[in-house]
Amino acid sequence: MRAAGLEKFHTPLVVEEVEIEEPRAGEVLVRLAASGVCRSDLHVQEERSPVGHVPMVLGHEGAGFVEQVGPGVGGVAPGDPVVIALYGPCGTCDDCRAGDIADCWSQTRQNNALGLMPDGSTRLSLRGQPVRPMVGSGSLAEYSVVREAQVVKIHPEIPLEAACLAGCGVTTGIGAALNIARVELGSSVAVLGCGGVGLNVVQGARIAGARRILALDTQSSKLDLAANLGATDGILIGPETDPVEEIQRRVPGGVDYAFEVIGRPQVVRQAFESTRAGGTAVMVGSPPAGESIPIDGRLLFSDRRLLGCTGGGNIPQRDVPRIMDLYRRGELKLEELIGQRLELDDVNRAFEALVEGELARSVVQI
Ligand SMILES: [Zn+2]
Ligand SMILES: [Zn+2]
Repeated sequence: MRAAGLEKFHTPLVVEEVEIEEPRAGEVLVRLAASGVCRSDLHVQEERSPVGHVPMVLGHEGAGFVEQVGPGVGGVAPGDPVVIALYGPCGTCDDCRAGDIADCWSQTRQNNALGLMPDGSTRLSLRGQPVRPMVGSGSLAEYSVVREAQVVKIHPEIPLEAACLAGCGVTTGIGAALNIARVELGSSVAVLGCGGVGLNVVQGARIAGARRILALDTQSSKLDLAANLGATDGILIGPETDPVEEIQRRVPGGVDYAFEVIGRPQVVRQAFESTRAGGTAVMVGSPPAGESIPIDGRLLFSDRRLLGCTGGGNIPQRDVPRIMDLYRRGELKLEELIGQRLELDDVNRAFEALVEGELARSVVQI
């Protein structure tokens, strides 16, 4: 099959023939129809991600059709439209069995994050060498073999180019607002960074009934999108602008919830400092490993909370159908997030767009 492979870090992706094996027990072969390209893909290419490993097939925001199932697969059948979720819980560890599925950190899920099956194998190879699919998904390809826990069946009427966004960006953003912060009706929210994930934090806050949603970004085009998705205030950040001052000027005393959706320690600090006493800041972005976040202890003492967030506390079988229902009822916008549609051969243009930072999402049609 053809796939967008990263053979060496810091080099463009190469669309080439990659060998793919049949699904084994508990696994599903998916024929991809669409895949979003996310900033985490860029982080792998730039050798800045703990889940990166070369050679690797990138992509982790895919939707397509089940082509074939391995022995013991009961939840999906050939022909079913599915989204490939960011992670699949193991289902058997103490956390999973206690219902704490989002916090499963079993060997199975750790391997999943590193692009390996539970036994450490992969179903992909290139010239005889094993190739890992990014986070077990590798959706910038014609096919992917994934564990059954990583696929979620969706309604056949949902366009797959919109559905694929539930693989990462939408689920993470909506989940940060609904699962992690648990934004309350009538509250005030600030979103620092309105890329593909941040725009979905805006949508999540709107769905939760936030009264005031402040969107902050360095690009006015992102603020226009944020306004379309529910932001009540757009704040353009220039080199001289202090986000904390801008937020506090609009919501004196600070906001109930602030979200950092960039992955920079300084911005996490700004998000934290823009909350009111008793408020909640959520770090949705992923800062480089080993970097510390400078927090004034006195501010934390004032009953503020700073929360981490991996993929929006997402439980695939609960959250993907919920997102699809919100979309079908018109409460969640997905098409509006797609800035450009590309062929697989032009996949590197999606990475260029990420570097430029102007589009919410590029979707590759496969
Ligand atoms: Zn992602
Ligand atoms: Zn588990």
